[in-house]
Amino acid sequence: MVADRTGLAVVGGGPGGYAAAFRAADLGLEVTLIDPEPDPGGVCLYRGCIPSKALLHVAKVISAAHRAGDWGVRFADPEIDLDRLGQWKDEVVERLTGGLGKLADSRGLEHLRGTARFADAAHLDVTTPDGDHRRLAFDHAIVATGSEPVRLPGQPDSDRVWDSRRALELPFLPSRLVVVGGGYIGLEMGSVYAALGSEVTVVEMTDSLLPGVDADLVRPLTKSLEARFERIFTGATVDEIEPGDDRVRVAISGEGGRRDLHCDAVLVAVGRRPFVRGLGLDRTAVRFTETGFIAVDGQRRTAEPAIFAVGDAAGEPMLAHKASHEGRVAAEAAAGRRSLWDPRAIPAVVYTDPEVAWCGLTEAEAEASGREIRITRFPWAASGRAVTTGAPHGVTKLVTDPASGRVLGVGITGEEAGELIAEAVLAVEMGAVAEDLARSIHPHPTRSETLMEAAEMVGGQATHTLRKRSG
Ligand code: NAD
Repeated sequence: MVADRTGLAVVGGGPGGYAAAFRAADLGLEVTLIDPEPDPGGVCLYRGCIPSKALLHVAKVISAAHRAGDWGVRFADPEIDLDRLGQWKDEVVERLTGGLGKLADSRGLEHLRGTARFADAAHLDVTTPDGDHRRLAFDHAIVATGSEPVRLPGQPDSDRVWDSRRALELPFLPSRLVVVGGGYIGLEMGSVYAALGSEVTVVEMTDSLLPGVDADLVRPLTKSLEARFERIFTGATVDEIEPGDDRVRVAISGEGGRRDLHCDAVLVAVGRRPFVRGLGLDRTAVRFTETGFIAVDGQRRTAEPAIFAVGDAAGEPMLAHKASHEGRVAAEAAAGRRSLWDPRAIPAVVYTDPEVAWCGLTEAEAEASGREIRITRFPWAASGRAVTTGAPHGVTKLVTDPASGRVLGVGITGEEAGELIAEAVLAVEMGAVAEDLARSIHPHPTRSETLMEAAEMVGGQATHTLRKRSG
């Protein structure tokens, strides 16, 4: 087969791949982006971040309408038109992926629809959706193939046993939905279905929701979800899932013994793993970590010098914004620049109600490493803005260095925490001290003031709380 040639082949068109391809094209490289979908976007845009956020927005509207009853404004119970809701979500996806397609075209990069497999360390074989084959020679390649859902051992194939992709398709509205896994996907999609009217039961293996996240940040969320969900089982595992014609039996066991849950559908959301199968990487010198990720250096270069890897395939955390940043670093390195992936703070956001967001050093990480830290927490009950929106159940927490006052990490639970965390990322990245945050004038009344006030507490007292001094 005669090979076409490209400067940079990017395998995978998600946030890691398209950010890399766009950056490389902007730097003057000849770029071919290979992905099976009609436009760039990957899992994030087609069946992840974007459709889930569209549905979570609807959940938020329903819940706000419900809460308005407390303020003297009563709405009738919502009528859910699942078809129209699905259409709207698809329109959001089409609009954004279409926009990316136009951006790719106007940058002059080639978008090759198909799946790619390495023939060796300098060639890819691409199979197009029509079944045609094309061999592509490259100077550099970036692997950005993302991740795939982990399945439970013995998980049956059934229309009633869903992964996140199926849940986002809104196949039907189950009266009862069991969600296996109390992590990002389980809690976000559980919240969507609960708002639409399903009775949701969560089964989480560890002893708390969002394991690994600081307990004080998770607590307000757990309380809120206890009111929205039918039941939350922690410390419980699923022994068997048995789908019937119109019901599913889920056998679980835990501290309370064994029990059967009966439902109309089960969502399995027990994590994701790097998607590296069938890529032909065994025909290159690319190496893997013990946990199955592609091993990379600070520039995201693999053990094969011409091949880079970014995003979910190249390590935790599996987050779109981390992938995009890595993608840009790899593209710059491929273009000969001395770029390095060296973040101090990668924000994480769980888009539940309330949202949970954090960045930089967490309290749990500091404890585990024995690092001395200072913690200050500003309760949202003391935030004028949080009270005006009827959402005072939150906390803004600063992790600072006791000697220098430097901001090492921030955690926020509350409405729009995902927006607020960006200021914290800047503070950590810029090496700000708490006083920098405390003395920066924040607009009033906003939730952003909670960051300023948590920083004021590092130096003594915040204006809107008073901590009694001991002794
Ligand atoms: P996750 O790692 O967030 O959560 C999985 C949960 O399942 C954990 O709490 C784990 O303890 C539990 N679990 C594992 N095995 C179990 C079992 N047998 N029975 C019961 N519980 C079990 O994974 P996820 O929710 O599937 O999401 C996958 C990844 O996708 C996340 O790690 C995240 O990086 C990404 N994601 C991010 C966002 C966001 O940024 N808002 C949203 C969705 C997904």
